[in-house]
Order: sequence, then structure tokens, then C-alpha cells
Amino acid sequence: MAKQSKAVRSSSLPKKLQEAMNEQIKNEFASAYLYLAMSAYCESLSLPGMARWLRIQAEEEIEHGMKFYHFIIDRGGRVVLKAIEQPPADFASPLDVFEHAYQHERQVSEMINDLYRLALEERDYSSQAFLHWFLEEQVEEEKITSQAADMLRLAGDRGEALLLVDRELGSRREEDSP
Ligand code: MG
Repeated sequence: MAKQSKAVRSSSLPKKLQEAMNEQIKNEFASAYLYLAMSAYCESLSLPGMARWLRIQAEEEIEHGMKFYHFIIDRGGRVVLKAIEQPPADFASPLDVFEHAYQHERQVSEMINDLYRLALEERDYSSQAFLHWFLEEQVEEEKITSQAADMLRLAGDRGEALLLVDRELGSRREEDSP
């Protein structure tokens, strides 16, 4: 009788990296949840431009999570989805939203740096190549969130200025973002 072929593919992804990347899938989806909460807050203030910007950002975070998802699977690894925490429902102001977004992106950059350090330690060259995109992406994410916070800081409490910023942020094209 012919031997049954093994159903389970063997993984070339080091266990520590697999675990850290599964954690990062959760972090990216948690980012999506956070940006969506921010978007809903801006909708409640009738600032549709900012709400749109943040909704596009949320969709991108899901794409980031899916990049990790596919990478783990492509390496023959095992994806395990983890629980996502509830994001805040309220913010103090639109400026508070974007300051929060900037601080959040700084933290995400640290997470990506930690992953890259682990890929170096594990001498996993394809993970290093995969993570290059994220290292560059984080430079962009920090830039765009801090620019938005700067614009809102300049606008201050002036309604007309706030509406201008809302229009400016609302003009974000979906393909603008990598
Ligand atoms: Mg991300």
C-alpha cells in the first residue's frame, strides 16, 4: 500500500519569528480598529474629510496585517489570530486624534524594528527582505500623521481653519498610501 503523503507542510520560518509575526498581525488589526474608532469620532463631529482619511488609514492597516498573514503561510508557518483590545471611543479634539495617531505610529515603528532585530538574530534573510517594506512604510506613517497634527495645531480653535484642514485631509487618495 502506498504511503500516505504528509498533509502538513514543514515550516521554514523560525518559531520565534512566527510567534512575533502572529503578534504583529494582531497589532496591525488593532491599529485598524483604533483608526476606525478615530474615524467614527470625527464623523460624530461632522468632519467628513478627517473621517475619510482615518477610514482609509484603517483599511491600510488591515492590508498590513494581511501581508504578515500571507508571509507566514507562504513560509509554511501557522497563522494564529489573537484577541484585539477595544479602542478608545472618545478623544478630546481632532488635534488629540492626530497626536494620538502620531504617537501610535512611533510605537508601531518600534515593533517593526524589534521584528527586524529578531530576523537578524535568527539569520532569516527572507524575513529581513519582507520587513524592508515595513521599515520604509513606517517612515511615511510617522510623516503623514505628524503633518496632520501640525496642520491641526496651526488651525487651533478657528472653525474656518479646521474646515480647511478637514477638506485637505479629505482629499487623500486611496492609492496615495503605499
Ligand atoms: Mg501598519
